[in-house]
Amino acid sequence: TTARRPLMAGNWKMNLNHLEAIAHTQKLAFALNDKDFDRVDVALLPPFTDLRSVQTLVDGDKLRIVYGGQDLSRHDGGAYTGDVSGAMLAKLGCTFVLVGHSERRQYHHEDDDLVNAKVLAAYRHSLTPILCVGEGLPVRQAGGQVAHSVSQLDGALRTVTAEQARSVVVAYEPVWAIGTGEVATPADAQEVCSALRARLAELYDGEVAAAVRILYGGSVKSDNIAGIMDQPDVDGALVGGASLDPGEFVKLCRFGE
Ligand code: PEP
Repeated sequence: TTARRPLMAGNWKMNLNHLEAIAHTQKLAFALNDKDFDRVDVALLPPFTDLRSVQTLVDGDKLRIVYGGQDLSRHDGGAYTGDVSGAMLAKLGCTFVLVGHSERRQYHHEDDDLVNAKVLAAYRHSLTPILCVGEGLPVRQAGGQVAHSVSQLDGALRTVTAEQARSVVVAYEPVWAIGTGEVATPADAQEVCSALRARLAELYDGEVAAAVRILYGGSVKSDNIAGIMDQPDVDGALVGGASLDPGEFVKLCRFGE
């Protein structure tokens, strides 16, 4: 009942060196066909050091796979040793960039202000941010998952215009479900994803809310994807562990078939 195109995004995290990335992308390219790409957008989010290799395969073989970075600097360039700018990602043909992944929030102390600055940096370089929000276990146990996730959305989209927000991708990733094998129920995913969409309608308007793709992430596998994708406000998945197995990731791209 919606015109939103499903998006399956594989977050490789700090896995696969550039040679492994080439082999992995070639396996995906061999297995995925036009019918798959007609139905779903397939995105890879490799480590920075793999992006050039992925770009070469995508361009050389005219693959319909898109790709992006797992993070970016809030700055566009300059004396920021170790950081990578949105301009650099754009130059490598990136479509997407993850912003505010829970592992960045946890291990690199990224707060809502920094996440907001990174969202703005992504837009400056025509990258589509995949904005990650989601509560930890104590918040879930206290029933605060909606308030927490909505507040992270508010913080990240501060000063983002309706025109920009229309293209954002939001990923609801309950931290307790990431890499734990503990998947949220379809109803859990729908509860927060629908609340996030309702909040987008308040922050902007119904048209923006209806256009934005909202993904679920957290221990998604081929045997639990169908129920999650059945939910009306879930438009795809952000997949960590299972995206490292090409066969499994292809199955995820064929959810419900
Ligand atoms: C993630 O890190 O975005 C993620 C969803 O990981 P996993 O699928 O391994 O839980």
